[in-house]
Amino acid sequence: MVKGNLLYEGKAKSVYETDDPGLLLVYFKDDATAANGAKHGVIPGKGVVNNKLSAFFFKQLKDRGIKSHFVETVGEREMLVKRLDMIKLEIVVRNIVAGSLVGRLGLPEGTPLNVPVIEYDYKSDELGDPMLNRWHIMAIDVATIDEVNRIEHVALSVNTILRDILRAKNVDLIDFKLEFGRDVSGDGEVLLADEISPDNCRFWDVVTHEKLDKDRFRNDMGGVEEAYQEMLRRLTL
Ligand code: ADP
Ligand code: UDP
Repeated sequence: MVKGNLLYEGKAKSVYETDDPGLLLVYFKDDATAANGAKHGVIPGKGVVNNKLSAFFFKQLKDRGIKSHFVETVGEREMLVKRLDMIKLEIVVRNIVAGSLVGRLGLPEGTPLNVPVIEYDYKSDELGDPMLNRWHIMAIDVATIDEVNRIEHVALSVNTILRDILRAKNVDLIDFKLEFGRDVSGDGEVLLADEISPDNCRFWDVVTHEKLDKDRFRNDMGGVEEAYQEMLRRLTL
């Protein structure tokens, strides 16, 4: 595999073409942003942790029947993935109240939800990633109803699988964000993509409720690097 042109420079990752038109190389950076890009920083070692943890989770999901874009790890900070036609949605799944839901529902952080809640944000930097519902999604052709149904089914399965894996490591899965894309080199099947890491999940220690994710950076809590390393240690050592 030969690394080709930079296709996309994101906030946390850079995406490169390869000599295979169906494959991309994702490079995980240490850069971190929050508050819709208003806050910038560097979390040393984050890229390595996120690459390793994402590979770990994608493999665990594959073993349980959930297909993703992940092909293989090719370096400490790099993974090879299937090139997908990305669906411009962030799919958030929540088990426990945290983040923006505290203000929206007027409930304290840490309140358990009776059922997992699915939310959609429209991936649009110009609009500031506004929340959508499935009617908006269909109305403006972001995805078809069949795709939305598929995404919800897979997102809820991912939630159950990750919750169990994490619980065994003394970590509660509070909420997380997923992205999906269409496998246009095949039959357009919707596959899980992007990453699964402390950047886009909330992880709390089961006993102490210590935060082991990007909230430490978002809220200037300190111990940011240590939290990422601790998640890698708990899951993969
Ligand atoms: P952002 O775009 O929010 O700054 P990142 O820094 O994580 O995010 O950049 C990675 C980009 O790569 C995202 O826009 C994501 O949608 C996209 N992406 C993730 N997986 C794939 C894939 N398999 N094929 C094409 N694009 C992908
Ligand atoms: N999240 C993410 N990227 C975003 C916004 C949120 O990965 O651009 C994740 C975040 O890590 C958390 C979940 O989505 O696990 C919900 O976060 P929050 O309530 O803060 O999100 P908001 O509703 O403000 O977008």
